[in-house]
Amino acid sequence: MTDIPVYQNFINGEFAPTPKNTIDVHNPANGNLLSRVPESETGEVEHAIAAAKAAQTGWAAKPAIERAGYLRKIATKIRENADELAKVITLEQGKILSLARVEVDFTADYLDYMAEWARRIEGEIITSDRVGENIFLFRKPVGVVAGILPWNFPFFLIARKMAPALITGNTIVIKPSEETPNNCFEFTKLVAETDLPPGVFNVVCGSGAQVGSTLTSHAGIDLISFTGSVETGARIMAAAAPNITKLNLELGGKAPAIVLADADIDLAVTAIKNSRVINSGQVCNCAERVYVDASVADQFIDKITKAMAMTTYGDPIARPDVDMGPLVNRIGLDKVAAMVETARAAGGTITTGGKIAELGQGFHYQPTVIADCRSDMEIMRKEVFGAVLPIQVVSGLDEAITCANASEYGLTSSIFTKNLSFALQAVNQLNFGETYVNRENFEAMQGYHAGVRKSGIGGADGKHGLYEYTHTHVAYIQT
Ligand code: NDP
Repeated sequence: MTDIPVYQNFINGEFAPTPKNTIDVHNPANGNLLSRVPESETGEVEHAIAAAKAAQTGWAAKPAIERAGYLRKIATKIRENADELAKVITLEQGKILSLARVEVDFTADYLDYMAEWARRIEGEIITSDRVGENIFLFRKPVGVVAGILPWNFPFFLIARKMAPALITGNTIVIKPSEETPNNCFEFTKLVAETDLPPGVFNVVCGSGAQVGSTLTSHAGIDLISFTGSVETGARIMAAAAPNITKLNLELGGKAPAIVLADADIDLAVTAIKNSRVINSGQVCNCAERVYVDASVADQFIDKITKAMAMTTYGDPIARPDVDMGPLVNRIGLDKVAAMVETARAAGGTITTGGKIAELGQGFHYQPTVIADCRSDMEIMRKEVFGAVLPIQVVSGLDEAITCANASEYGLTSSIFTKNLSFALQAVNQLNFGETYVNRENFEAMQGYHAGVRKSGIGGADGKHGLYEYTHTHVAYIQT
């Protein structure tokens, strides 16, 4: 029997002593125990915050191009270890290996992309009303960032929070999800091999209730950058309120996909199916509900049913050729199964799937299509986070847009049409942070991933995401 690794927190440039209390991490495809990770106590979190605070001024004083050098070094190390890192992600999270490899490569590219901003972080010179006065607007680091990670793209999310934080002169304390901490510790080992100054990057592992709430209620944290559920986002807002801590919250979505009468149906089927199946449907930006025009509804439902039915699934290590791995845990599986049952009872017609998969082990749910859905059904309103596609038939674009907008979420959306006027009408009238036209939902690192309504506050990526890690400082200089 192989030894089970026990990971250690990383605080002030050092791995902490072997933890007293640990959390077991399991493989969702077969239940095997993979590792033990620290169930940290409040004192350790406070130690990490203090280390980040002590390091911040010195880090911010370095030229940005020097800070960029560290991000590039970490990116290089990630590329050198890409296959091993992808396997670690797959084992604990369940995504297929090819997708895990995309995540690893994208993470390295993201670190390089953010490093490129070193020479582009700009302030402004503003015209004054006074003779002889100059008004300068500076962009300065906020200070210490708490990065609280989800489990669905756990490796990339380290970089999505760390890279803009560090390049703009902040230091960071990361809390990985207790579902998927191993990849974060493997990332940390690579950071530890560089000469990154102690305290700039810290990792403290443990539960949301203990480590998460200590971080989010601590006066030493200047920005909380969180990705996860709406419920936890609301708890974090409450915890941050007494200190008026700045927040950056990415809280998921219920992305509508609109398929119009003139759409290329095969393109729509492929894009929507891929968007629903990727990461077993556990992606905040992926198509979660379809509004299809009545004139093409039968054709679309028939084709997408066949495409979903052909989707293969299983243990992604034992069967590297599958399209989909398991859901992340039992809670996720039970949630998906319950939502499908509720939809069935409310009048939905299951055209494929609709059951927990009988593979003997793992948290697998069959790829599922549900026709005859209505706007009042839970499956059209709540995030499923599984490969389940509910479909509602509509009459034209106006009805589709009305239905799409009637949601508590507002992250991504998509439309399939050959008519540019319809596409532009959708872009103008869809009340979402992103709209994809004739393609799958997947954002670019130079874009801006942000939602409206309960999808969050602020966003990530590109110039706008970068500047969320800064505050402005305006100087009025009278000469
Ligand atoms: P959570 O939002 O509960 O967890 C996300 C992160 O927040 C984890 O690191 C978690 O810690 C931490 N956390 C939990 N409670 C607190 C708290 N009080 N204060 C600070 N941090 C906290 O998501 P779940 O993992 O429970 O997933 C539930 C649902 O959330 C999914 O089914 C999906 O709908 C949605 N989700 C959305 C994501 C997105 O991309 N927007 C990503 C992940 C989930 P820990 O779990 O270690 O205790």
